[in-house]
Amino acid sequence: MRTKIIAGNWKMNKTPSEAVDLIRSLIPLVNDSDPDVVFCVPFVDIPYASEELKGTNIAVGAQNMHWEEKGAFTGEISADMLYELGVEYVIIGHSERRQYFAETDESVNKKVLTALDHELIPIVCCGETLEQRENGDTLDLVRGQIEKAFENVSAEDAAGIIIAYEPIWAIGTGKVATKEQAEEVCAYIRLTIRDLYGEEIADSIRIQYGGSVNPENASELFSMPDIDGALVGGASLKVDFADIVNYK
Ligand code: PEP
Repeated sequence: MRTKIIAGNWKMNKTPSEAVDLIRSLIPLVNDSDPDVVFCVPFVDIPYASEELKGTNIAVGAQNMHWEEKGAFTGEISADMLYELGVEYVIIGHSERRQYFAETDESVNKKVLTALDHELIPIVCCGETLEQRENGDTLDLVRGQIEKAFENVSAEDAAGIIIAYEPIWAIGTGKVATKEQAEEVCAYIRLTIRDLYGEEIADSIRIQYGGSVNPENASELFSMPDIDGALVGGASLKVDFADIVNYK
């Protein structure tokens, strides 16, 4: 039985004081929930989030990091920096990073390897554009993204990685994939992991769906056998996020 994991991706929202307000409102609502809960906050909010979440069951996540250890990479943040602040998870290869900041399957793989080296759990994002879906390319594309992201990742490390299937056409658009569409791709991702690492790891790895998840559609998505939770954008910025975590 896989424990569901629900992560909020706050994107570039919430100043430190706003972050503290939201976290204080959410702690009593989600601290004792069944799914694992992660708040992926902007870098500058991390120290405040870590402080507020100390002693709770809620983990702090980052939204990106660089693959290099340190050095002349102006504006970048290293895995060590995140780890020292109590970060446990890091989103890697979000489609907005790929679209606006030229991230590629190769950079995603480098970041995954560095994150694992520093005991950070990657939340690896994959997913297709509307055009790719309409051309019937979704499954091949996602398989390619996963195969590259997991290159040189050991079986032991692979089991702990979180995969987020996020169809780009469903992110921030209010257009959610049907539960059948989301399940089809999540099941195919599990098959891809089985081909790479075998049955046991495929059965244990957690695969989230992301794309306009909200309190109304969460429970039907989570009823599908291969959907182990969600990466939530817009709806993670309000206390209603608790209704997604506590879906019935
Ligand atoms: C996301 O940013 O990962 C996301 C899924 O956004 P939204 O829930 O707003 O579609």
